Amino acid sequence: MTKKFYVTTAIPYVNASPHIGQALEFVQADVIARYHRLLGDDTRFLTGTDENAHKNYLVAKEQNIPVEDFVEKHTNEFLGLLERLQISNDDFIRTTDQRRHWPGVYEFWQKAIENGDIYKKKYEGLYCVGCEAFVTGKDLKEGLCPVHQKPPEKVSEENYFFRLSKYQKELEELISTDELRVIPESRKNEVLSFIRSGLEDLSISRDRKRVPWGIPVPDDSSQTIYVWYDALTNYISALGYGSEDESLFDKYWPANVHVIGKDIVRFHAVYWPAFLLSAGLPLPKQILVHGFFTVEGQKMSKTIGNVLNPIEIIDEYGTEALRYYLLKRGALFTDGDFSVKRFEEIYNADLANGLGNLVSRVAKLCEKSKLKFVLSEPRSCIKENEKLDAYKFNEALEEIWKKIAKLDKFIDEKKPWELKSAKLRDVLSFPIEEIRKIGVLLEPFLPETAKKIQKRFAGPEIRSAEPLFPRIK
Ligand SMILES: [Zn+2]
Repeated sequence: MTKKFYVTTAIPYVNASPHIGQALEFVQADVIARYHRLLGDDTRFLTGTDENAHKNYLVAKEQNIPVEDFVEKHTNEFLGLLERLQISNDDFIRTTDQRRHWPGVYEFWQKAIENGDIYKKKYEGLYCVGCEAFVTGKDLKEGLCPVHQKPPEKVSEENYFFRLSKYQKELEELISTDELRVIPESRKNEVLSFIRSGLEDLSISRDRKRVPWGIPVPDDSSQTIYVWYDALTNYISALGYGSEDESLFDKYWPANVHVIGKDIVRFHAVYWPAFLLSAGLPLPKQILVHGFFTVEGQKMSKTIGNVLNPIEIIDEYGTEALRYYLLKRGALFTDGDFSVKRFEEIYNADLANGLGNLVSRVAKLCEKSKLKFVLSEPRSCIKENEKLDAYKFNEALEEIWKKIAKLDKFIDEKKPWELKSAKLRDVLSFPIEEIRKIGVLLEPFLPETAKKIQKRFAGPEIRSAEPLFPRIK
């Protein structure tokens, strides 16, 4: 029986152009999706944009642009990036989509009401607009939000609350037993200690006078649904949850893995599963948490002006080179660093020399030999990959590059340029078959390059062509 596999990225809010960290997340999720398609799993890959964020509204107002136009413009930039990165998502959900997204949010809210988990309460607290969350004294550093370096606002209003406290024991049990697996372990421990410190009920609506952009609370248009309650629901609304046709939802939910950044672990590993439990829905199986990118050793920030636009890197070096760097250096469980010098070093060493050189070397030898080769099916090499199952993208790549190094050594030792016909065919057949397999193994990581290699080494005759990765001088 075919297995189903459902993978998602977080949906970024669109108050600015995409940056390198989002490119990293798209590429990671794309590798996971492509790998599962390669295994023959019935795979669905979702991404999208969080257009209802209050931050979008605030920046649009600041720039004097109608919010609708503002989010449209940035969402189009994200769509452009997905295309340039060759991301193979099956679907793209926008949270302003009243036909596709809103019915799922309403249904989700309704289920929590029926379960007695939503109530109204007067509330006074400190609110960080950047985080779109209420914060307490222990979240602050010298009175400022440590993420946004701004003091929180004092907010006093009547909101709807979600009975998060009710789910504390259950969540602790589910996460500590890996029933809901948070990867890596360090993030899991962080979540567990947050849960064990005591869960308080969560405000899940805002006064619509203060937050007029977003989805109104059903039957109470004086309130806007808290953007996280709305945004998280994209993972099921995109599958038709709450609509007339729930067949995709029935087929693909629960998600096998949500790929997210380290700044939103609490929302995905605590709030989201609690909302799902309340609605009586199954929980995602895994939450994969990646680190951030620094640029030339520095934290990316608008003030420093070092926010890296992935499109510029693609224009300069190509999609596959960026994908390779992100997967190799975006060390999953820590932070990665983007440095132009390192980027060019890795490009020349691994892509121009390692892979590119092997492919043109063997192709030239084949062309010169004028031999025809009877080749076996390279897709027989597809099997479950332990490294990819553990999301160790860089280690999975290292294994392929070890094969490349071995083949280079093989050719150096066998000296095919000194051999004639029958013996030459024997010696060349091995690297040809191996390169054909590499062409398959690279599919999840470097889909364009994989295609080129497969085409060039399709046989029976093999000819050389332009280099896969021209050297950077
Ligand atoms: Zn903040």
